[in-house]
Order: sequence, then structure tokens, then C-alpha cells
Amino acid sequence: MFGKLRLTNSLTREKELFEPINPPNVGMYVCGPTVYSDVHLGNVRTFISFDIINRYLKFLGYKVRYVRNITDVGHLLDTGEDKISEKARLDKLEPMEIVQKYTNDFHNVMKTFNALPPDIEPSAIGHLLEQIEMIETLLAKGFAYKAKGSVYFDLNKYNESYEYGKLSGRKIEDLINQSRVLEGQDDKKNPLDFALWKKAAPNHIMRWKTEWSDGFPGWHLECSVMSTKYLGPQFDIHGGGMDLKFPHHDCEIAQCLGTTNKEPVKYWMHANMLTVNGQKMSKSLGNSFLPWQLISGEHEMLDRGYSPMAIRFFMLQSHYASTLDFSNDALNGSLKGYKKLANGIRILKEMVYPENQTLNINSALVDQVNKMCDDCHHAMNDDFNTALAIGHLFNLLKKVNSLYSKQIAFTDLDQATFDRMKSTLLTFTEDILGIKPETNINGQNLLNILLENYADAKAEKNYKKVDLLRQQLRKEGINIKDMKDFVGWAYNE
Ligand SMILES: [Zn+2]
Repeated sequence: MFGKLRLTNSLTREKELFEPINPPNVGMYVCGPTVYSDVHLGNVRTFISFDIINRYLKFLGYKVRYVRNITDVGHLLDTGEDKISEKARLDKLEPMEIVQKYTNDFHNVMKTFNALPPDIEPSAIGHLLEQIEMIETLLAKGFAYKAKGSVYFDLNKYNESYEYGKLSGRKIEDLINQSRVLEGQDDKKNPLDFALWKKAAPNHIMRWKTEWSDGFPGWHLECSVMSTKYLGPQFDIHGGGMDLKFPHHDCEIAQCLGTTNKEPVKYWMHANMLTVNGQKMSKSLGNSFLPWQLISGEHEMLDRGYSPMAIRFFMLQSHYASTLDFSNDALNGSLKGYKKLANGIRILKEMVYPENQTLNINSALVDQVNKMCDDCHHAMNDDFNTALAIGHLFNLLKKVNSLYSKQIAFTDLDQATFDRMKSTLLTFTEDILGIKPETNINGQNLLNILLENYADAKAEKNYKKVDLLRQQLRKEGINIKDMKDFVGWAYNE
């Protein structure tokens, strides 16, 4: 009924028919955040993109196991220091305090943007034994070597049987020419060989004892270990931000092939980057803002704040594989669009197809509405094209508004068509796109308005209205208190 899903595979650079390895099961792994600072907006966009993919696959009836990791060790700064260790040292906290704080923050941000949690959220430190095992296997197979307490992946050896860099499309010879001579590279056979295990410097806080050294695992290793542990040696979808393609994902492929001789991932998917007024978003350019700044509007580049659902809606108006450009104009446009959608959905939810009507079917209209519903599915089936799907939802919304304003009559449509329109709009908006109603209505202000009405009615000696307001508020759990010179209230006791 919904047609076939096609998606763009970064590995083949083709739009391919989605055929899971073990239907109806689908395994999806997405590289999660390194929890050493506030999650940045680019990450939020990536995780919202994969939230949509998770939601749509589930809608199609697949049993999805969605794994997204927490990186709590091994992600190094250019200085060679672990990102979490550095932050712990600067803030004089335990590394695990840093990890916990930013994991909590990250979860709050994801919840604010209505992203469903993954089914498994493993952490790198929780999988050290498995990482050590994978290093042992790679050593035993000759794809890794020891050097001064560290263990490196042997790319020259790997390239005798496989092709390093095939995902990002880089050639090893070019990479060697481009690579800078970094500290510690003297230990390596090839400057591009990446660390599987790093011997810790004396001041390094996070360290574990192994036969190689007191040290810590390389960052790329955890994802190979955790994805294959929970999804098997070969799984369906591996996602992440575009910036992870190289070296992170190319290294993951190398580690898995070196360990199992099996291509680990059938479909690689990458969400694109953010730009601000056409320029790359980056801290150094001063044009990057954090999720909470976008919500509060507290940033010099922002005209105002935007609600989380307006931001989510804004992100979905671009295809995940296109760059997403932030500008005040675009955000304001999305805010209007989001409100229009929210209003339409609110009207639709209250709309009921009337009973016992004499039908006067407008078959052209019926065909049109059914085609619009089909189009929503086709858009999502075409590589999760949320931008296009939103366009079709707005076409349907126009019909809803016409029904509301009685420009068209319910009797123009049969009930099945009306029901399909309603369920398509609701399912796509709320379940698939994850756009939920946001209310800015302030209950206290509304109550104050009612209490003023009550005081006016009392002054006018309109006791019928006075009693009615008392009764209605009591039903809502509010007790009106007639004080000497004002009207107060209390919760019913
Ligand atoms: Zn990863």
C-alpha cells in the first residue's frame, strides 16, 4: 500500500531499494555524542534526522533496534588529551561527573525536541572488555601491531586485502601526502595508522591496565564493538553526521572487516552540516549557537527565540542530506508554517464526520485527497524526504480548512476518504515527523480573567452568573474565596 522505501547509501553513492538483511528486523546504529560539553546544534540535527528514520521504519512495520552510543572515553583533542579528561581537569571534577552531567543534558535536549530515545544506549567505558577482545583479535590476525605500549591498526597490511577509505572516497597515498607529522607518529609504521589502544601519559586520568600498558581505547574502536555486539557482524543501517565519514567511519569499516572479514554495514547514511546565512556554522566564526540559545533567543545573531517544535519543523523542511541554513528569515518562515500546521491539526482533531448525511460525492475531490495522502507516503519513501512530505501535508491542510469554513461540505467526501485524510495528517505530523502540539496558554492568566469576570458579576448582582462560575471552577478543582475586598481562590480540599 505504501510502496517501496529507497534510501541513499553513502557507501555506493546510489539511491537503493531498502531491503533489510533479516526482515522484519532492522538494526540501526548511530554514532552518539561525546559527553564533555553541551550538545551542539549540528548534532541535534543529525539525531533528529535519524529519529525520523527510526520513526518511519517503525511506521512501515519494521521491528527496529536503534542503538546510539555515548562516547565517554577515547575521543581525543588535537593536543592528544582525552576530551572528557581535559574537561574534568579544568573543572576539577571526576571524569564520570562530566559524563553524567552532559549525558543528562543531552537527554533533556533530545526530549525537548521530541526525539524518541534509542532502544539501547551503550557507553564506551561499559564495553572496555569487548574492545580489548577486538584488539586481541586484530593483533592475532596481523591487522594490528604493538608499539611502545600502544596498539595501532596496520593500514598497509589491511590494504593488501581491503581498501581503506572507500566510504569517504579517499586514497591512502593522497592521505599520506596530506598528513601532518604529529607527536607520537614515530611509533607508527604508517602515519595514517590509527590507535586501537593508547598508552596513557602520566597525567592522563582515565586509564585501564592491560598487558600492553596502562592506557585507554582509541575512539573508533568503541563503535565497531558496540554496533556489532548489539546488531550482529552485519547490520542494516549505520548513521552519523557527515563529518564522521572520515576518518571515524572508514576506520570502523576497517576494524570490522579486519576482525570478521564481513562487510559490517549494508546502508551507510549521513546527515549534512549546518550553515548560518550560507556560512559554515563554527565556534571560531562566532556564528554557532547552542540549542538553548536558539530557544531563548539569547544570541546576538538571533532576532528572537523559537519554540522547540518550531525548530524541529524548521529542520524537517530540509532533506537530511542537504545542508541546513539558519537565518532569521528562514526561522521566522518556519515558525509561521509550524503555527499554521498546529492550528490545522487542532481543528482537525475536533472534526467528526457527521452521521446520516445524504452524500453528494465530488469524485474529483475524493481523487485529489487520496492522491495527496499517497504523495505523503511517496515523499517519505523517497529517501525520507520530509520537506516534500510537509508540502503534501499542507495541501491536505487546505482541504481541512475548506471543510472548516464550509467552502466544501462533508457530503462531498465519503467517510473513508475523510478518515484517511484525518489519519494521514495526524500520523504524519505527530508519529512520523514527531511534531507535537505546544501550548503557550498560561493557566494562571486564564484563571485571573475568570476571577475578574466573577468579581464583575458580583458587583452587578448577577447571581445566576456568580453561581455558574463558582460551579464551573469547582469542577476544575478551584474554590472561589470571597474575601473582604478582593476575590481569592484555593484548590478544593
Ligand atoms: Zn561512532
